[in-house]
Amino acid sequence: MKSKTIVIATRNKGKLGEFRSILADGYDEILSLADFEEVPEIKETGLSFRENAFIKAKTTSDFLGMDAIGDDSGLVVDALGGAPGIYSARYAGEGSSDNENNEKLLYELKGEKNRNARFVCCIALVLAGGTQEFFEGECHGEIIQEKRGQSGFGYDPVFYVSQYGKTMAELGPDIKNRISHRAIASEKLLSYFSNFK
Ligand code: IMP
Repeated sequence: MKSKTIVIATRNKGKLGEFRSILADGYDEILSLADFEEVPEIKETGLSFRENAFIKAKTTSDFLGMDAIGDDSGLVVDALGGAPGIYSARYAGEGSSDNENNEKLLYELKGEKNRNARFVCCIALVLAGGTQEFFEGECHGEIIQEKRGQSGFGYDPVFYVSQYGKTMAELGPDIKNRISHRAIASEKLLSYFSNFK
């Protein structure tokens, strides 16, 4: 089999590390945008997780003529009509911190009885030959009234997983990496690759 390379459309080292371990068996070399300074900044102009994941993967694959993966994720809250959704990273404004986003979320949900929410992750795979595949994962929970726990990032301190009786930030990485939206989408990607072994 000839040597195979894939590019992950991210400059985030944490995400790259996750994808490296997932794809180790399918590719000989796993690179990221950090290896290709010439790829222009990719604007997330899509209106869904899927569109944004696709824009990242497709732009990277077209520019470099290589296989590429893009992903997008966020929090979807039922009582807020799906907000913050694709705007999760900047819910409280451009450049907002995790803490500011959490405070805004708790404010918007004040007095609201329906606290149902889910984390969503979409991974897009675009192969140089033209193939396009999508892999989605969801993790369901509830938004509690106050922040609890120290681990994780983003909305983890307010995202309560009833199965464990804890917030995602109280659960810690071992359990989170088994049940999270990213873990579920990544498992689907991995099983897609295992079909070609
Ligand atoms: P990204 O664009 O996929 O890196 O994620 C967008 C935003 O969604 C992040 O900045 C977080 O606010 C939120 N988010 C995504 N995944 C998680 C998670 O696992 N826990 C908490 N927040 C998350």
